Amino acid sequence: MHELSLCTSVAEIVTRHAAGRHVVAVHLQVGQLRHVVPETLTFCWEIATRQTPLAEATLDIDHVPVRIECRTCQAHHILDTPLLHCPTCAGHDLHLVTGQELHVTSIEVDDTPTPPDHPAAQPQE
Ligand SMILES: [Zn+2]
Repeated sequence: MHELSLCTSVAEIVTRHAAGRHVVAVHLQVGQLRHVVPETLTFCWEIATRQTPLAEATLDIDHVPVRIECRTCQAHHILDTPLLHCPTCAGHDLHLVTGQELHVTSIEVDDTPTPPDHPAAQPQE
């Protein structure tokens, strides 16, 4: 289940960037060639963040389609099925433009300071 190790590394990256702030949401770009199942990813995210400060952060998955550029005619295409030639000129010299992404694009944090009269701000006794 490579989704779990993926979520574990995403959680590590986010934790580092959040630097103690409360993370509300994590936006992740996943290229279609990564063969990641969205439901599995969401499920693994819950497991990977359970009992961590990220437990309440939602994972927002942005799927990036497979895009190719033909070096012969410069046409760009988005592929829904694997294919071996350019639909425009039937050329085979293709450059894979997108589809292999795996990036945390942004995280949302709630860094509103706790008001001084809020119970959470009072010293614990
Ligand atoms: Zn072409």
